[in-house]
Amino acid sequence: MGLTLAEAKAILAGTQKTMVDRQITDYLKQQACCPHCGRRRLRKGHHILVYRKPFGKLRLRSLRLYHCVCQPQSTRTFSPLAHLLSERTAPELLYLESKFASLMSYGLSVQLLQEVLPIEDAINAATVRNHAHAVGQRIDAELGDEQVFFIDGSERDWEQLPRPDTPLMVGLDGGYIHSCAQRSRKHGWFEVIGGKSVTDNGAFKRFAFVNNYDEKPKRRVFELLKSQGMQSNQQVTFLSDGGDTVRDLQLYLNPNAQYLLDWFHLTMRLTVMRQMAKGLGAAGTELREIALKELERMEWFLWHGNVFRALETMDDLAMDLNTEEPTVKEVTLLKKLEEFET
Ligand SMILES: [Zn+2]
Repeated sequence: MGLTLAEAKAILAGTQKTMVDRQITDYLKQQACCPHCGRRRLRKGHHILVYRKPFGKLRLRSLRLYHCVCQPQSTRTFSPLAHLLSERTAPELLYLESKFASLMSYGLSVQLLQEVLPIEDAINAATVRNHAHAVGQRIDAELGDEQVFFIDGSERDWEQLPRPDTPLMVGLDGGYIHSCAQRSRKHGWFEVIGGKSVTDNGAFKRFAFVNNYDEKPKRRVFELLKSQGMQSNQQVTFLSDGGDTVRDLQLYLNPNAQYLLDWFHLTMRLTVMRQMAKGLGAAGTELREIALKELERMEWFLWHGNVFRALETMDDLAMDLNTEEPTVKEVTLLKKLEEFET
């Protein structure tokens, strides 16, 4: 029943070609005479102009005309169609290319678009890559200036805003990417910060940037939150682990921004330490049992908001691990514990 994919593609391409032929004929007819004196413009020949659309690559016959002499002109001839189509790729095609290239490889994006649209030879991996980069740069150029402080207005202004129902939740995390050819600790790696901002109804947006490369990390996050309707009187909750780079990002983005340590990251660290404690010796070994018990107490205090006692327990455990002749395993656990305390 209905159309096959091949038929649909052929019909689309054919319909577009017929449409475009008519549109161009009409347009060139309008250009045939001088708009000032009505005299017919003389032709100087034509060339082929290639214009790429999602429904096929168009090879258009672009006329070159002589300017009328009734007005002073900087050139003798001009091409109306080349003037009209200053870009040679339609915005819809750029949109589709960039959208899919941001989700998968350039090669796969080409395959997908060619599979469903009549654009056999209109795109290849290199053009999609170049287009996606150009679109990315254009979007970046539209971002406003970076600021340290994004909070605008006064408390009185904020109070007059309609009360937003619920907070925005933003989860943040960082990850390091190392080059396989990394030569030193300082070179050959970068940190990527990724995040997801979720509104009350579950709508979400994601963002990511390379921290020491991006010139406008705060502006990027600020615009994203604004696009989700963030108001100055709205609570915005940031969840992340304790890293400085992610912790500082939310500073001064919103007067009601709140930073919470993500329990997930604490739990991960505790789990790792528990595994290490189990490796200290066979079940029943004194240090092993003490360490496990103290880790459990530590977790309990943390989960109940008793930071003071949690820190005390950490110190106790650190002291127990600091034996006269510590084994490698004890030293490693102690190091993890110190990181956790920090
Ligand atoms: Zn004229």
